[in-house]
Amino acid sequence: MPKLSIVVPCYNEQESIPLFYPAVEKVVNKMPVEVEYWFVNDGSADKTLDELRKLHQQNPDKVHYVSFSRNFGKEAGLYAGLEATTGDYVVVMDVDLQDPPEYLPIMYKYISTGEYDCVGMRRTDRTGEAKVKSFLSDKFYDVINKISDTKIVNGARDYRMMTRQMVNAVLSLKEYNRFSKGIFNWVGFKTKYLPYKNVQRVAGTTDWSTWKLFKYAMDGITDFSEAPLSIATWIGGMSAFLSILGLIFVIVRRIIEPSSSAFGWASMVCIMLLLGGLQLMCIGIVGKYIGKIYMQTKQRPIYIVKEKK
Ligand code: UDP
Ligand code: MG
Repeated sequence: MPKLSIVVPCYNEQESIPLFYPAVEKVVNKMPVEVEYWFVNDGSADKTLDELRKLHQQNPDKVHYVSFSRNFGKEAGLYAGLEATTGDYVVVMDVDLQDPPEYLPIMYKYISTGEYDCVGMRRTDRTGEAKVKSFLSDKFYDVINKISDTKIVNGARDYRMMTRQMVNAVLSLKEYNRFSKGIFNWVGFKTKYLPYKNVQRVAGTTDWSTWKLFKYAMDGITDFSEAPLSIATWIGGMSAFLSILGLIFVIVRRIIEPSSSAFGWASMVCIMLLLGGLQLMCIGIVGKYIGKIYMQTKQRPIYIVKEKK
């Protein structure tokens, strides 16, 4: 029988885990697969680790967990989980049941035919989410798909089933700043997207504040595109060009009309502010990339394990 590994990142999910496990078991028990679970405790402050220990004791061969020494973020959790799996197929799921387990047999049906290397779920709506948030997310996908070669499907979640071959490809990208949505697409392979309606989380609250989501979006853009760097160069070049035009204009005007004072100190201040602002902006963009290079050159591990069972 083929083996299906289920990777579940958990951060402060003590209430969700006892609901998640039976809900998934009910579904996978009817599937023609052997199942293993790899929960990742991402440095939770609540009783998440105790819940995982309990589950492991009850099913020592089936339920495993990796527990981090601190919170490393969901992306690191996914990496650690994927690295631990041994299955022929691997599925990544959130523990809050926002990724409905009912779709597992359907995903499996598509992937087991061998036609697809990956089956992902795509939200078709965003009910229960603030309007502004949905609008900004849509814009994020528009922007990133316009400026990056790696296309990211709008509404695609991390909920996806992959073949071993694809998982190994994902693991071969050892970058420190991980943006999985982009990585899953970057590695290529044939992906089938199944649409579904958005589901609210069963328990607990989401940890993603608007600020965190904004940072996530900026990371996505700078991780998968060099366009902001060229934007900086382009804007810099344009403003330099305009300044030269302006200068020529001022000189010509002086010659034609020596008494004119239209280009006095006020216009100078405006131009200085404009150029100063543009320079700061460009330095900021360049700095963002340098920051990423800095993090990568340190060759830090993506996560640190405290306990693994
Ligand atoms: N998560 C994690 N580390 C974090 C934040 C979240 O492992 O630092 C896990 C969380 O437990 C959940 C999944 O990532 O299983 C998705 O998180 P959440 O439900 O908060 O995000 P949303 O569904 O709102 O995108
Ligand atoms: Mg969620």
